[in-house]
Amino acid sequence: MSEKSYDLIVIGSGPGGYVCAIRASQLGMKVACVEKRDTLGGTCLNIGCIPSKALLSTSEKYHEAKDGFAEIGIKAGKIELDLKGMMKFKDSVVGANTKGIEFLFKKNKIDWLKGTGVIKAKDIVEVGGTEYKTKNIVIATGSDVVSLSGIEIDEKRIVSSTGALELDSVPKEMVVIGGGVIGLELGSVWSRLGANVTVVEFQDQILPGMDGEIRKEAGKIFKRQGLKFKLSTKVTSAKASTKGVDLTLEPAAGGKAEKLSADIVLVAVGRKAYTDALGLENVGVEVDERGRIKTDQHFKTNIEGIYAIGDVIAGPMLAHKAEDEGVVLAEILDGQSGHIDYNLIPGVVYTWPEVASIGQTEEQLKESGIKYKTGKFPFMANGRARAMNALDGFVKILADAKTDRVLGCHIIGPEAGTLIAEVALGMEFGTSAEDIARTCHAHPTLEEVVKEAALAVDGRPIHV
Ligand code: FAD
Ligand code: NAD
Repeated sequence: MSEKSYDLIVIGSGPGGYVCAIRASQLGMKVACVEKRDTLGGTCLNIGCIPSKALLSTSEKYHEAKDGFAEIGIKAGKIELDLKGMMKFKDSVVGANTKGIEFLFKKNKIDWLKGTGVIKAKDIVEVGGTEYKTKNIVIATGSDVVSLSGIEIDEKRIVSSTGALELDSVPKEMVVIGGGVIGLELGSVWSRLGANVTVVEFQDQILPGMDGEIRKEAGKIFKRQGLKFKLSTKVTSAKASTKGVDLTLEPAAGGKAEKLSADIVLVAVGRKAYTDALGLENVGVEVDERGRIKTDQHFKTNIEGIYAIGDVIAGPMLAHKAEDEGVVLAEILDGQSGHIDYNLIPGVVYTWPEVASIGQTEEQLKESGIKYKTGKFPFMANGRARAMNALDGFVKILADAKTDRVLGCHIIGPEAGTLIAEVALGMEFGTSAEDIARTCHAHPTLEEVVKEAALAVDGRPIHV
């Protein structure tokens, strides 16, 4: 029986869903958001971006106090890890953020329908046995962990990112399967806290998809920090016992197998679209070969009135991509026009140093035959970076050889994730490297490295 009717029901309260719900409500729509988790905010706030960044921040502070303070003239005495306290802080950060979304829902008069949302018809969503009528449905059900065949994630010995955010002791030996974003961020956390971490990566370099030079530099820096890498290698089996995990590794191209053992194994080989129990079959919503919901440029599925955004559709699995799609879709539903430039979605890896990227990589430009100029500048030659004792890395700007328009920027270094914002804004407005080079940058700041890289595009950096 239909109880209440809405203009819009959003299924899933992650960054895609909750942002879409808020924007739609701001535009005057009557909105409900269905969430089956006990708290709002989705993967990002509960078991993703936020808890991982809390642990990255606290483990970084611990590591610096323990190993970095002496170098800069601070005697801190005996530094001890209070892992329980660190986890408690992380949980409090998650709690404050998820409660914040609850507050925003109340403020924007969005109903939270608690439970699993099942699409019964193109205008009906059922939650906990009650049917709700709606003009439009937005699917924002996100993604879930990918496991490897024959390797069972028990979240105790063999963990996904979710388990790796909750370990109750520091493992002596930790193997991370996958040298992507999660593997490096969470591998860094546990390495800083004292674990011997070995990253097994199928490809010949870590961080697939990033600019080649950045990938190489990242590998060098992380190795120096103590992470071990087994590249061009795949894990073919991992068996957990009460004592630990026994793994078998093989060269990616085939060959002699080797054995490895660990206390904890983190499986971080990607995520997949999540549409379980959603009822797509009830209305015939189409998915692609990877189980992602198919949409057009305006996020419309093959069924009138049903839309999808975020990790559950194609594109980078990033919170800010999901958020932007949520805003644009709400505005489209309001009759406005909207568009996202997928080339201008920054990607950031929150290791130390951070890695950040926007636009095209050098490899992509070569492949498409675009002629480009490169400007590179090292943090080592920047006064502020020296003052911070943070000398690793560089900024690299790629600009069109003829027009000087910036086509990509790739940074490895302190605050890379913050520095990329200037270039993102510039690229949104079609900036040239010369525009960035002629913009006055405060001194002494890390931003000056971006300016110098822009000057280097024209072969005229000042400080090298
Ligand atoms: P999700 O956040 O996955 O939310 C979907 C929600 O839908 C979930 O809460 C789920 O319970 C709910 N749901 C699903 N089905 C139903 C149903 N039928 N009924 C009711 N509710 C349902 N991205 C970044 O940009 N920066 C980062 O630093 C970052 N760090 C990450 C760290 C980790 C460890 C992980 C795992 C991911 C990280 N990500 C990061 C990725 C980011 O979390 C996702 O891209 C983002 O959460 C996707 O948002 P979404 O709204 O599409 O889906
Ligand atoms: P990923 O795609 O970044 O990395 C997975 C890695 O596993 C790849 O390098 C791949 O080559 C490797 N791999 C695959 N199969 C393998 C095998 N059998 N043996 C060894 N290596 C193997 O995926 P992820 O790190 O799991 O992250 C999932 C998603 O979450 C990503 O799409 C990412 O965008 C998102 N995320 C983003 C952030 C951030 O923005 N800072 C942080 C965490 C997660």
